[in-house]
Amino acid sequence: MKVTTDKINSNLISEVEEISGQKVSACFQCAKCTGGCPVVWAMDIYPHQVLRYAQLGLADELLNSKTLWICAACQTCDSRCPRGVDIPKVIEALRLILLRAKGGNYLHPNDLPAKVLENAPQQGLVSAFRKYAK
Ligand code: SF4
Ligand code: SF4
Repeated sequence: MKVTTDKINSNLISEVEEISGQKVSACFQCAKCTGGCPVVWAMDIYPHQVLRYAQLGLADELLNSKTLWICAACQTCDSRCPRGVDIPKVIEALRLILLRAKGGNYLHPNDLPAKVLENAPQQGLVSAFRKYAK
């Protein structure tokens, strides 16, 4: 990918570090996180790339990425990270930035078909709204 200065949001790394409490700048791109992620096959930006994009301030690419909504917060990646970065917290921070910028919820109950609301397990619905709504 070609990186141009007009694509860079230089506040992104500090915003992500403040919300997540994680040192994004500590990542040295070993990719051990990506090597252990069980859902990496479904991601368009891999976990180690999430860190790199955040370091580079590539906000548009990150905030439009499927990866933010694919991560299952299983914590496999952070147990492998030699720099102690809690990657799910970084991903959660990016979701929050996106939700705040949209000024609303990513998922609203009215967006779901009645069949899903009636038949989906309650625990699944509560988890989904915790993750995808303010
Ligand atoms: S927490 Fe997310 S990024 Fe990390 S291994 Fe699990 S699914 Fe992958
Ligand atoms: S395992 Fe840690 S240091 Fe290595 S790429 Fe992933 S976040 Fe960066």
